[in-house]
Amino acid sequence: MLMPPNISRRRFLATTAAATAAYFVPPKLLAQTSSNFVATSRAANANNKITTTPLRRNITVLGGAGGNIAVLSAKDGKLIVDSGYSSCRLQLAAALAAINADPISILINTHWHLDHTDGNDWMHSAGATIWAHENTRYRMSTTQHIAAINATIPPAPAGALPTVLFNSYRTLSDTITTVKLTEYGPAHTDTDISVYFTEADVLHTGDTWFNGFYPFIDYSTGGNINGMVLATERNLAAAGTDTIIIPGHGPVGNKAQLAESHEMLLTVRDKVASLKKQGLSLEATQAAKPTASYDAKYGGGFLAPDLFVMLVYQGV
Ligand SMILES: [Zn+2]
Repeated sequence: MLMPPNISRRRFLATTAAATAAYFVPPKLLAQTSSNFVATSRAANANNKITTTPLRRNITVLGGAGGNIAVLSAKDGKLIVDSGYSSCRLQLAAALAAINADPISILINTHWHLDHTDGNDWMHSAGATIWAHENTRYRMSTTQHIAAINATIPPAPAGALPTVLFNSYRTLSDTITTVKLTEYGPAHTDTDISVYFTEADVLHTGDTWFNGFYPFIDYSTGGNINGMVLATERNLAAAGTDTIIIPGHGPVGNKAQLAESHEMLLTVRDKVASLKKQGLSLEATQAAKPTASYDAKYGGGFLAPDLFVMLVYQGV
């Protein structure tokens, strides 16, 4: 079993909190075991500040609750993409109320990970019907273990589970807005979908894009580096020069930035594949520093370079 060094795990935990903010997990929270990952993550994020950024037309992005949350003010209430950590409920509810008084009618999950689905239960209680890829419900219904960060996630409560399921493509529309949901296939996990707001030309990629950071790839629940490259290519094909792109983590971006991430993914994948093909061990591959030319740009926040190399090595 490949395990990251402690520093990588610490960084991962620290920055799942708020990828755009300087944020550190208090030392007492680091001495966790895999079984209390959920409680530890909630506690570490409970005091996060929520940022509110209006994007275009009737769409706003909320940052700081876990993964980036998109909010569409639709005819029959709010349509929300991802629900953040449950421990951010109070400040998230306040941020939603500040947009308008409309109820939450629909919640869409981009994938099953805790920092995107932990708020499902309270949003469902507040009136939301939850939409997701069918694998998201499967992953949330059963115990999952993410080996790369030694995290065990028990089944979510019944109210948190998505009830409108699909496995390829869905379109939602009212008289003013059309929202397209599209499965990626295995990429960051095997549950990933994109959400495209047609009229506003806004694309939420979930965690198939980490803007400004090396991406986490969850092999334990079906992700792999080649799928991440393919998902990035699909995002590039879906985006025009004016498309606003909401990544799973990091600041809202555009097609040019996404293209830079794509180039990085391809280059690192090919370098790591070449080293592995020459017979180098993981440790020797990490020591060869195949990410060196990108570390200043992508290695500073979310994943340490060595952990990213480990994730790539696993899939080539
Ligand atoms: Zn994720």
